Amino acid sequence: MPLSANNPDRNSWLHVDKNSDFPIQNIPFGVFLTRDDIITIGTRIGDTAIDLGALHQLGYFKGIPLTDDIFLQDTLNDFIADGRKTWRLVRNRIAEIFDSNNKTLKHNTKHKEIVLFRLDEIEMQLPVQIGDYTDFYASKEHATNVGTMFRGKENALMPNWLHLPVGYHGRSSSIIPSGIPIHRPQGQTLPAGSDTPVFGPSQLVDFELEMAFITTDANDLGEPIPIDEAEDYIFGLVLFNDWSARDIQKWEYVPLGPFLGKNFASAISPWIVTLDALEPFRIEGPEQDPKPLPYLQFKGKKSFDINLEVAIRPKDAKEKVVSNSNFKFMYWNMAQQLAHHTVNGCPVNSGDMMGSGTISGPTENSYGSMLELTWRGEKPLTMKDKSERKFINDYDTVIMRGFCENDDARIGFGEVKTQLLPIFNYKKKK
Ligand code: CA
Repeated sequence: MPLSANNPDRNSWLHVDKNSDFPIQNIPFGVFLTRDDIITIGTRIGDTAIDLGALHQLGYFKGIPLTDDIFLQDTLNDFIADGRKTWRLVRNRIAEIFDSNNKTLKHNTKHKEIVLFRLDEIEMQLPVQIGDYTDFYASKEHATNVGTMFRGKENALMPNWLHLPVGYHGRSSSIIPSGIPIHRPQGQTLPAGSDTPVFGPSQLVDFELEMAFITTDANDLGEPIPIDEAEDYIFGLVLFNDWSARDIQKWEYVPLGPFLGKNFASAISPWIVTLDALEPFRIEGPEQDPKPLPYLQFKGKKSFDINLEVAIRPKDAKEKVVSNSNFKFMYWNMAQQLAHHTVNGCPVNSGDMMGSGTISGPTENSYGSMLELTWRGEKPLTMKDKSERKFINDYDTVIMRGFCENDDARIGFGEVKTQLLPIFNYKKKK
């Protein structure tokens, strides 16, 4: 199945800014509410949102085996379950419809009125119903930094870390789309020098710069996915801010790992960029030494060159970029993560989400959390309004962005942004 949607020479008859994350070569998938309050599956070219449900009803996907209501749903789960061949046929067809040489829709004013929306006319939703969510811990730099802070340099990496992609099962109920504000969590923490915990607002609320991949139906109970096939089951990627409360986490994490310090909120960017669209940006990953066990050995380039940044915008101030990282720094790639996740026969379903873990690079300005950027608060960052940050303050907005770029094209993810509000106020709730 050719990937004609990726043709770098193609232009669209829709306007696309030069630095847009969404040229006609991207064609991501999302779910939005339209100006008429109808929920639909859509895509985006430049700053125009496209209603795929309406396009399908008007006959533009003729010849592709799709059920009539595949895009008239409030999640992408069923479309994702149709598999890679269908995703490719649909992306290729969308590219044809919006190609500058194709006049069919371009010259049909009535159809365009039904199908096209400005971004301010729509409201993005969560793109999938996430059944299960797993978070990995796959950046060696991040694991080393955190391990050094908590256990000292000699014991920074646990003995298993270089042999398997460490992960834990997270909670999907608190995964939110970009733009939804969250409250500072409360919980138990252990004050320094004390052996008795206290209850109150977390003082160390942090972001984690991550990406996450969304899977399709992959395997039945008991059936492992071989690493060579793992990427066939990855639909696409989103930006992922895995909000964390470091003081709650530190007190609770032994012996079973992350719990309430992690599951109060995690935010994703609303457009899923397909793995197909990212094909031109494959790159070698870090060298793996020692050599992983055979079920984790792979051929070819399984890492992706995706530039990432994090900005903090205090209330009433301009944003400041605090980190520049890259998805390519991940020690364990997505194929290894999926092969490992299923090697014991654990089933993976359409709409499951796997977080990469915090993506820290090798330099101090490429760390993916405040914990590392300020080294546990020892080196505060200065904002544009001269205020200092050790962690995230009330009313700060954290914004993450990501894009790939080569001589031919720029494919981006847009952004995921979340504002942190003060603790939930019970008195206000009537
Ligand atoms: Ca995480």
